[in-house]
Amino acid sequence: MTAKIIDGKEFAARVRGQVATHVARLKADHGITPGLAVVLVGSDPASEVYVRSKGKMTVEVGMSSVEHRLDADTAEADLLALIADLNDDPEIHGILVQLPLPKHLNEDLVINAIDPAKDVDGFHISNVGLLGTGQKSMVPCTPLGCLMMLRDHHGSLSGMDAVIIGRSNIVGKPMAQLLLNDSCTVTIAHSRTKDLPDVVRRADIVVAAVGRPEMVPGDWIKPGATIIDVGINRLDAPEKGEGKTRLVGDVDFASCVEVAGAITPVPGGVGPMTIACLLANTVTACCRANGLAEPE
Ligand code: NDP
Repeated sequence: MTAKIIDGKEFAARVRGQVATHVARLKADHGITPGLAVVLVGSDPASEVYVRSKGKMTVEVGMSSVEHRLDADTAEADLLALIADLNDDPEIHGILVQLPLPKHLNEDLVINAIDPAKDVDGFHISNVGLLGTGQKSMVPCTPLGCLMMLRDHHGSLSGMDAVIIGRSNIVGKPMAQLLLNDSCTVTIAHSRTKDLPDVVRRADIVVAAVGRPEMVPGDWIKPGATIIDVGINRLDAPEKGEGKTRLVGDVDFASCVEVAGAITPVPGGVGPMTIACLLANTVTACCRANGLAEPE
């Protein structure tokens, strides 16, 4: 059996199309243009790439994009002052502070300084609490994208066994919460989990968010299971030429695709959905701020 490949690139393009339609309606009917502010501190190359593509796609769907690039040695007080200004700015509906921040900045303090209503990454403690109690919140983009792909593939997820490998605040934990809210039986595995292969083998749904290249082999997978591979790992690829690299996920695609029922590829799976969900969250934040109906 060969798994169905879940095409995140195509799905994300569809989501961006829906976002663009909603943005056009907000402009035409209400004269409102949703605005997203992205704050980048320092010049981490991976973060630079993410910020650039977020800015490009924000503009492509018709929203306004504001980028604030601050020096790596920016004082915490200055960053907090910028966030306070963005919180007060009626043209800005979403604020994203690109992580990781340089070591001298307190990430929790900075994230919790964002107005929760504009916290389109869903990392503010208020949004974490709202999600944890099943209330309306801003949902973190990567797990939201994973959930959308799972719902699209399965319809109802009720009663399914889900194993998430990884317990980070930005992926593993919110993913668990979302799947629990969808009535899955959820297990969160991590570096101290005993018999990880056995734990993974019970899963109807495996979400791998570890950051270890190709760690999950096909013989850990229950036949027919759905695999969502969140990992983005860059490996040297001398076969492509000197200095070249390639991206791989946290699962060994070649062996998993033979066993699973469905699988997301890397690249082209979770990654594009993350940015699409960021745009969708910004429109949602804009609608809520203006007391308008939210997109579905
Ligand atoms: P973190 O490093 O914050 O968390 C990794 C988790 O994996 C930890 O909970 C850790 O356990 C667990 N882990 C590490 N080694 C093992 C092991 N041998 N067995 C079981 N569990 C293990 O990573 P993130 O959650 O931030 O990211 C995970 C991956 O997803 C990365 O590759 C990242 O690049 C990618 N990513 C992709 C995104 C996208 O848009 N596609 C967005 C965000 C992340 P413990 O807690 O015990 O240390």
